[in-house]
Amino acid sequence: MKIMVTGGAGFIGSHTVDALIARGDEVLIVDNLVTGQREFINPAADFREMDIRDAALRELAKEEGVEGVIHLAAQIDVRKSVADPIFDAQSNILGSLNVIEAALAAGARRFVFASTGGAIYGDTDERPTPETALCQPCSPYGITKFSIEKYLYYYQVQHGLSYAVNRYANVYGPRQNPHGEAGVVAIFAQRMLRGEPLAINGDGTQTRDYVFVGDVVRANLAALDADYIGVCNIGTAVESDVNRIFHLINDALEAGREETHGPVKPGEQKTSCVDWRLASKLMGWKPQVSLDEGIRQTAHWFRDQHQ
Ligand code: NAD
Repeated sequence: MKIMVTGGAGFIGSHTVDALIARGDEVLIVDNLVTGQREFINPAADFREMDIRDAALRELAKEEGVEGVIHLAAQIDVRKSVADPIFDAQSNILGSLNVIEAALAAGARRFVFASTGGAIYGDTDERPTPETALCQPCSPYGITKFSIEKYLYYYQVQHGLSYAVNRYANVYGPRQNPHGEAGVVAIFAQRMLRGEPLAINGDGTQTRDYVFVGDVVRANLAALDADYIGVCNIGTAVESDVNRIFHLINDALEAGREETHGPVKPGEQKTSCVDWRLASKLMGWKPQVSLDEGIRQTAHWFRDQHQ
């Protein structure tokens, strides 16, 4: 199949492209390299340095005969979305609508969208949180992701677009971006390797559901191959606090750091953890990589970059 991957030069996107190519798909990458990196781009893919808001995207997808789309390109920084909600909406709402229109123009048979289980539910006592929980995103970033889920439903009803939404928990792994939702892993690893000061925000008991990038890639491919319509959480249903992440990275890098704490970050979500059983039912997916193993692989990747 010919698959267009937006954001294919980024963290999750580049791993997704590698997996598609490894199984024999043809890949068209659309990425403006705002956070993506040229060295992550698989040389077997066709790469276009292009913004997802560019109207020429529709013609490109049509000419290239795109059959499936995995849409990952986005402004990913929650704090930036708070500082500049208009830019966030231009990128994540208008840009995404342009990608959906391009998929329609090309007559693509399947559309997979990268949404968020980290930022869409907000703080809730219902954990692991199922897809049926009330979505109360409290950042422009979470709101734009939720909006596109609703637009996809509209495009399915009105235009017959077959789509799947993957709501990722906090994704970590080699090539990860410090601005992403699991940015703490990259930040801690880099500071330890550079010998820079490192303080855990507040008491470090804030929790997240950390899912390894390899597991997320399998979910992207499974969603592309399946034909259900709807939304699945992609996480582990395991809550881990920041103190644990600190110690796992410290041990993996043999950094010998002492745990130190700084001020609480105002407005930070306290907890997050998603129920992934629907993904298991609809597409036979389940997480496979344990946090210990995933953090080890990630920390070692950062160490290799540092040398
Ligand atoms: P990333 O920054 O590494 O990847 C995003 C890619 O999109 C980059 O290559 C960037 O250059 C590209 N891009 C951004 N704006 C663009 C634009 N206007 N036009 C063209 N290309 C553009 O981040 P990532 O962590 O790999 O995130 C991928 C997707 O997964 C995003 O949609 C993000 O919101 C979603 N997501 C990530 C996480 C996480 O923990 N990393 C969690 C939930 C959802």
